[in-house]
Amino acid sequence: MPRYIFITGGVVSSLGKGLASAAIGALLQARGYKVRLRKLDPYLNVDPGTMSPYQHGECYVTDDGAETDLDLGHYERFTGVPASQADNITTGRIYSRIIERERRGDYLGATVQVIPHVTDQIKQFVLSDAGDVDFVLCEIGGTVGDIEGLPFFEAIRQLGQELGEGNAVFLHVTLLPFIKVAGEMKTKPTQHSVKELRSIGIQPDILLCRCEIPIPAGDKRKIALFCNVRESAVIEGRDASSLYDVPLEYHRQGLDTEILRCFGIADDAPAPDLTRWEGISHTIANPDGEVTIGVVGKYVGLLDAYKSLIEALNHGGLANGVKVKLKWLDSEQFEKDDPFEPLEDVHGVLVPGGFGERGVEGKIAAAKFARERKVPFFGICYGMQMAVLEAARNLAGIPNAVSSEFSEEGELVIGLLTEWTRGNEVETRSADGDMGGTMRLGAYPAVLKAGSKVREIYGQAHIEERHRHRYEVNVGYKEKLESCGLTFSGLSPDGVLPEIVEIEDHPWFVGVQFHPELKSRPFEPHPLFASFIAAALHQSRMV
Ligand code: GLN
Repeated sequence: MPRYIFITGGVVSSLGKGLASAAIGALLQARGYKVRLRKLDPYLNVDPGTMSPYQHGECYVTDDGAETDLDLGHYERFTGVPASQADNITTGRIYSRIIERERRGDYLGATVQVIPHVTDQIKQFVLSDAGDVDFVLCEIGGTVGDIEGLPFFEAIRQLGQELGEGNAVFLHVTLLPFIKVAGEMKTKPTQHSVKELRSIGIQPDILLCRCEIPIPAGDKRKIALFCNVRESAVIEGRDASSLYDVPLEYHRQGLDTEILRCFGIADDAPAPDLTRWEGISHTIANPDGEVTIGVVGKYVGLLDAYKSLIEALNHGGLANGVKVKLKWLDSEQFEKDDPFEPLEDVHGVLVPGGFGERGVEGKIAAAKFARERKVPFFGICYGMQMAVLEAARNLAGIPNAVSSEFSEEGELVIGLLTEWTRGNEVETRSADGDMGGTMRLGAYPAVLKAGSKVREIYGQAHIEERHRHRYEVNVGYKEKLESCGLTFSGLSPDGVLPEIVEIEDHPWFVGVQFHPELKSRPFEPHPLFASFIAAALHQSRMV
């Protein structure tokens, strides 16, 4: 049976619980353990798929098509373990299961209640389908004290009892604010947060205290005393200069050793091999040059909306030993006069995924700039669709080319995807169907054209990438667009869905219907990002 680590948060949100969980996973892996990470989200949405990226950041997609919290992206990037439908649950999903069962009569006349029915469902989720792993790390979204989080805290409290001594460890992430005028670090919010946790029956074993300065020895003692933990269990969690320094930093602070100590296995545990983390940390700290990428998107006001994208670009930088600087550009700004000025000094243009009408003309203008000026261009999902519309309008003589996502007036070069195959199944959708969970989601295969740039970049003819979209380029325009230089270099195996377009007569112009950023890892940068950054580097050396 796996051992369980429950990670909760207190004082404020945004303390990096997800990152901490991912880093712990990586540290345990470095000791040779197998891990699995899960996230419990107390909000009422069934999944984050219907939430605005402005509210909740990126929606991460797994191979099996789950729309999940962005923390699952951290988990995958740090551990390389692919997440699945079974790794993220929300209150909405729990309740919809319970209500479905209640309607079927499965509760045999019982009064259906939060305790035990909701808590049982949560426990079942935590314990189910864990596979052959040594540790399951379970992060609870939100902070202790949130009303909606209560059933989750109650469920993990019960699990602590049921799993028994030595099989469950509770780690609480808190904040130690530094009050500048007083020149003092304050432990009170942490004390209160732990008090809150203990009032619902959970005594944390370890406190990961996020702070800006080292924790004075006296404060560590005080926290240990008031919060009823060992002094060695008060771990200092300062901001690291790079995300990928976090595992090393937490190891230096003794976090993984303390976890193993709580499980009573510290003496028998293998020593960690952190060589690859040290290697990556060194490469990040010593870049050999820098490139600037202009990212033209709609959600640039909240960079969490582009979490995986930012990381994949960084991985592309790592593959080339350079730092990637991002210039965030609101797509709407390219709809005004003199659209290209902010793009003059970038070495590559990236138009990421997006939804809706706002800013589309700006994205089309950015693709035009990159095509005409021969600046490396990477269009992802909506970005690819916009590059296709640009080529249709300005190369193929279809000036009114549009997508039905934002206009019904014009030639629908991009339209609603109503039918496609997944393995042997046919998936069908209609315009008036539900919005939640109905996109083309998860991993789908594509076949790459012999002799194309992407075929060379991937080094293989068959690929599988993760999707999340409702519209698609109409393959009927393939011939016309190809005759103007926009090659359809990747197609679904049945040849019906355009997956990749590229321009041959251009240093690097690629649009992909999928989201390659979701599969990029620091230790395995995605080939498209590695190649795009290499092209940008080449561009930077030309100007
Ligand atoms: N809005 C587009 C679609 O649904 C693209 C989606 C995306 O970029 N993820 O097809």
